Amino acid sequence: MNSKTKPLPPVNDKAGLIKHVESLLKCRRCPEMHPPVVSGGPVLSRVMLVGQAPGDKEPKLGRPFAWTAGKTLFRWFNEAAGIDEAKFRASVYMAAVCRCFPGKKASGGDRVPSPEEIKKCSAWLDRELEMLRPALVIPVGKLAIAQFMEADKLNGVVGQVFRLNRGGVPFDLIPLPHSSGASPWRYSAAGKPLLAKALLLIANHPAIKEIKGNK
Ligand code: SF4
Repeated sequence: MNSKTKPLPPVNDKAGLIKHVESLLKCRRCPEMHPPVVSGGPVLSRVMLVGQAPGDKEPKLGRPFAWTAGKTLFRWFNEAAGIDEAKFRASVYMAAVCRCFPGKKASGGDRVPSPEEIKKCSAWLDRELEMLRPALVIPVGKLAIAQFMEADKLNGVVGQVFRLNRGGVPFDLIPLPHSSGASPWRYSAAGKPLLAKALLLIANHPAIKEIKGNK
């Protein structure tokens, strides 16, 4: 690891992060989005999870990954790294590409956020990267991965660790496929072993080991 990719020391500004999340929860920049904003709360962490956008259940339950995709996602982390849902929520900063429910498409399924909405919400993500200086970022799903790198195909990125730098903040990126039932790639012959490889990389990452050590 060279100096460009070595994680920066943590800022540990809990009060600043609390203020950030308070401002985020009040955000109404996107007129087509359905408030309230969904946040995982001001968790000071060297690990950041980046989801895509909440579904219709998350705003009612008040936390990200609160429904079926979350059950699968937390099972993955528990089986691979021994971190259960409660420990994960208390130890990992949970961000997203967009923090509001985009609404349903006329044809069914959730609307994909527009490029303009993604750009507006990325300002929150950039600020969080600055504030947390994560050592590890885990984007979940193609839309989340695409905020950090070209990702036409999951086969080309899942199962690998990438050393990136965004806004002067270096971090490791370990992409995961989306855990919703609507994303069948993870069951495919190519996807299954790559997902297992990605989860092993996450489980062995020093920032995750640090969380496991803080029981
Ligand atoms: S999607 Fe993001 S930028 Fe848009 S209103 Fe919600 S929190 Fe604000």
